[in-house]
Amino acid sequence: MILKNIEDLKVYLNVPRNIVVIGHRNPDGDAIGSTLGLKHYLDKKGHTTQVLMPNEYPDFLHWVPGSETVYRFDRQNNQCIKALEKSEIIFLLDFNALHRVGGDMQNTLEKYENDFALIDHHQQPDDFKYMYSDTTMSSTCEMVYNFIKMMGDVDLIDENIATCLYVGIMTDTGSFRFRSTTSKTHKIIADLIDKGAKNDRIHSNIYDANSYNRLLLLGQALSNMKVLPEYKTAFITLSNEEKEKFNYEKGDTEGVVNYALSLKNIVFAAIFIEDKEQGIIKISFRSKGKFSVNQFARNYFHGGGHDNAAGGKSEETMENTIQKFVSLLSNYQQELETSYEA
Ligand code: 5GP
Ligand code: MN
Repeated sequence: MILKNIEDLKVYLNVPRNIVVIGHRNPDGDAIGSTLGLKHYLDKKGHTTQVLMPNEYPDFLHWVPGSETVYRFDRQNNQCIKALEKSEIIFLLDFNALHRVGGDMQNTLEKYENDFALIDHHQQPDDFKYMYSDTTMSSTCEMVYNFIKMMGDVDLIDENIATCLYVGIMTDTGSFRFRSTTSKTHKIIADLIDKGAKNDRIHSNIYDANSYNRLLLLGQALSNMKVLPEYKTAFITLSNEEKEKFNYEKGDTEGVVNYALSLKNIVFAAIFIEDKEQGIIKISFRSKGKFSVNQFARNYFHGGGHDNAAGGKSEETMENTIQKFVSLLSNYQQELETSYEA
């Protein structure tokens, strides 16, 4: 864990500030929940807080309290630039390095002259003035809860804050089932329910929001799945044509990789999704046990993340990408064989 200048940050926040809070590109439940949860808290403390996101996020997150106040850098560029110019400090949530916001936004942030405060659970964070980094944490939302506690303000957590933080803890833990879920996570969740988070509604809003096409796309993905029992590996591909056939919308492929990991005796799963706009194949990796997909993604696919959940990309064709992926597996046969042993 890294705790850097957090006491100084507490003092800095003793007077009302103009604050910007940013999540990563392709924001997920934890990015949206943590940024909005922190925003509601900071606003309650008398600050003026604006949440910025690099690009769009799935429909099933648009109900999260405060979501209507978010500015997108790719769409509301002027508003974003103005908010950044006015701001005295930027909070970076749920990502570890400025390149994770991507493109123009990264360039803009690199020129920023005031300080950054990072709250994040990804490995190998860059250095910023204020830092709370802990890779053992289930989610950035769990850390925002801890951060509010460090500020001595747990009593300020209300229904809105509790709802936001519940969202990210739930989504990043696969509904409280991944190894990162601790008894502390459950205690925090219990407190968030006591403070007004409606767990059944939140779950429904996120997981029972499928469109008909999304389920058909899932069907396509499952029928594309390949299993390599000798490597305890399963992978899924989705081409651009397949996405178009089922009217792909942002978020439609979220969680699909977990179906590959749910196969008995599989410890390593991947999904390769063609992204015509960016001209890349976007990859998600998941593993069970010791095999680190963070390291695998860093080594071979320009990515990273956590030990059991990471992402990356390939600029080659789908065919070549799959060939590369499969040929790498033979180097890891032993590791994969023993990854999930007790
Ligand atoms: P997902 O597969 O759900 O997109 O991402 C899984 C985890 O890996 C998340 O924590 C995400 O932040 C991280 N991740 C996804 N794609 C990338 C990437 O291209 N680079 C890095 N460094 N991390 C990624
Ligand atoms: Mn996260």
